[in-house]
Amino acid sequence: MDVLGLLQKLCGRQGENRTCYLCRKEVFDGRTFCADCRRKLPYPLSFCLRCGRRMTGTGFCAQCRARLPLADKLRSVFVYDKEVKGLIRAFKEGDPAMADGFAREMLPVLQREFSGADFLTFVPMTPAARRKRGYNQSRRLACALSRLSGVPVEDIFEKKRDTPEQKGLSRSEREKNLRGAFFLHRRAVCRDKKIVLIDDVLTTGSTADELTRLLRGAHAAKVWVLTIAATPAKSLFPSDMPSPEKALGAADKP
Ligand SMILES: [Zn+2]
Ligand SMILES: [Zn+2]
Repeated sequence: MDVLGLLQKLCGRQGENRTCYLCRKEVFDGRTFCADCRRKLPYPLSFCLRCGRRMTGTGFCAQCRARLPLADKLRSVFVYDKEVKGLIRAFKEGDPAMADGFAREMLPVLQREFSGADFLTFVPMTPAARRKRGYNQSRRLACALSRLSGVPVEDIFEKKRDTPEQKGLSRSEREKNLRGAFFLHRRAVCRDKKIVLIDDVLTTGSTADELTRLLRGAHAAKVWVLTIAATPAKSLFPSDMPSPEKALGAADKP
């Protein structure tokens, strides 16, 4: 038995049966979803090399060709479609234990795409927002992923104020909205480090950009972003550029 297996046994996790988060069927391999549901889940088979969003074709998506995200590389496990949106909502609205299941899905992506990471960190919440929810879902994910991967977690950010809803704002409005909302209070630990920022969903990418900007200011060597899900890549033509809602509805259709 390897060290992880031993730890899991000591913690009473090995052989733990759980129910599939989608269909509630019992699963015996400690996975989050049963084999049938895994076949149906929207793993992005073809994705942009920079932002990791699902796209047709290869290389960089139109959005990244127009303007690159600040992070060196972003990856997500799933396409953010209706099914996945429901799962993440359940996770954020009262089922923090789902972090373990999602972390199991994120582990192979972390190992494949971000090998050599020095530490994981997470998108912070204001203390008031955290009290209201009872937990920070991104922190839960980072901690669960740390237990599975052995990569440590560092709590380096603070959120100083709540930011109004980002939906429907232009890029510059979102940037203005976020400027000064976050504070990197442990700059020294970031210097020359390869850092993986963990969050639940990548939508506009504005939060990831803002936190990456702070990490770059603290001389991080690499900034990587790993989320459970990401909205698909958009077309550059404004007329057929879907809103996140439309993209959600359309995500499952060919
Ligand atoms: Zn299932
Ligand atoms: Zn892209």
